[in-house]
Amino acid sequence: MRVNEILKNKITSLKTVLHYKINIFLTLIAALIAVSAFQNVSYGLSYNTLYSQEKILRSKNVAQYTKFKFIIAGYDSLFKKSPNSYKGALAAIRMLDLYRYLSRKNHSLFFQDRVRQSAYEIIKYSKNGRARAYSYFAIYDLYKKQKISTYLLWKKKLLDEYPDSWEAKLVLKDKKKFSSKKLIFSAKYADQLKPLSGKIIVIDPGHGGKDPGASGYFGIKEKNLVLEIAKKLYRSLKKEGATVLLTRSTDRFITLEKRAEFANRHHADAFISIHANASRNKKLSGIETFFLTTKADKKTLLIASRENGITPAQMGVLQKILVGLVQNAKIGRSSILAKDIQEDIFKMLHTKRTNLGVRQAPFYVLAGTKVSSVLIEVGFITNRNEAKLLLNKSYQEQIVSGISDGVEKFFGYK
Ligand SMILES: [Zn+2]
Repeated sequence: MRVNEILKNKITSLKTVLHYKINIFLTLIAALIAVSAFQNVSYGLSYNTLYSQEKILRSKNVAQYTKFKFIIAGYDSLFKKSPNSYKGALAAIRMLDLYRYLSRKNHSLFFQDRVRQSAYEIIKYSKNGRARAYSYFAIYDLYKKQKISTYLLWKKKLLDEYPDSWEAKLVLKDKKKFSSKKLIFSAKYADQLKPLSGKIIVIDPGHGGKDPGASGYFGIKEKNLVLEIAKKLYRSLKKEGATVLLTRSTDRFITLEKRAEFANRHHADAFISIHANASRNKKLSGIETFFLTTKADKKTLLIASRENGITPAQMGVLQKILVGLVQNAKIGRSSILAKDIQEDIFKMLHTKRTNLGVRQAPFYVLAGTKVSSVLIEVGFITNRNEAKLLLNKSYQEQIVSGISDGVEKFFGYK
């Protein structure tokens, strides 16, 4: 080709590409505007409106997530508003069905994960038989292609709990891949399928023995309060299938080194240290979850020096030691664990509390462990109101189930 011909060709192809790109760009912007406009109002939309929108899109064979996002969000909010009602259950089923539809059309792990997550969520929060049976079925169907032991278990669950459901009938038709022999065989996987099975979690109730930790209203000593909460957490995590170990189960003193060493020796998957906060300012209250850093501002240094059992002045020296101990890879995972826990605590609380968020501090006990580790300050015992709550058994349970949920989320169950 001659030079100007080549140039001409290039220019034409460039033009087409540009044209194409601009078109995509404009479509994207239009879609974004439409989606954001709709998302703002989708929470208030009725089930019928959402369903008719869904039907229109599906009849056109549309399978882009962006197009369905607002519908899914709408269903999700209807479900969350009343997870046990008929309408709530319908919305849950539609949401799950949409994820299954998108998963079939797109064959991406992302949608498979959404199917799994929303099915687990429905099973966890809804008592409605229709929604639950469909969720069992969705998980069964998802795992059918992947893990035989898992899908057999979900089949068994479905057949045991909802033998007359449409889903059970559908599953029973699936004879080829399933025999009653396998069904019995699958029962022994039940324990392995608990959300935290195979995980080793070390709970570390702060202080103990000669070290009482902070003291607060109503004669609360930190060491006693955190042991009580830690024991509740122990039961809760155990119920979910984890192997749970406590650094102390009685009122005894253990050094911070020993606590970290304990977690390492048992090859823990997560380390959760439980503490209660104190401040001269009696108005301060709230819950916060920490993960490790070697740097910190004055405020966190104050908490860290107290929890490390040294004066703020000595912190400088300790920080230097910590730099050598810290493994960076661990910090990333720990920050996720901290976020999951902090978020879920606030989902479970029935009382409004101050969310002090996820923060970083140089805690000695966190530096020594080789695993994902966090330190939770469950509240201020120097705040009269919060101290009273912290003594309340049902409030303690709320905190504990939040931590539990966070841990499950972290290990990817929910
Ligand atoms: Zn403490």
